[in-house]
Amino acid sequence: MLSKKCIRSISIKPGCIGCRACAFYAPEIFIVEKKSTVKPNLSSETLCIQHDAIIQAVQHCPVKVIVVEEV
Ligand code: SF4
Repeated sequence: MLSKKCIRSISIKPGCIGCRACAFYAPEIFIVEKKSTVKPNLSSETLCIQHDAIIQAVQHCPVKVIVVEEV
């Protein structure tokens, strides 16, 4: 049985340095101008489909400010 994890929520703590790594790994999720923001109105289905890309973004953030809640 396929048991894929999903993301319930994403937030970005203060301290983003605008390096754009998150938008590189998960362009469907993050927009970076001076600082990263999470795109508005993302569906739970999108967060599920994008799980692996989001985790890549979290792991590559050099200042570790992306916080996700997995389900
Ligand atoms: S990877 Fe981290 S520091 Fe870089 S833009 Fe995204 S949130 Fe900001």
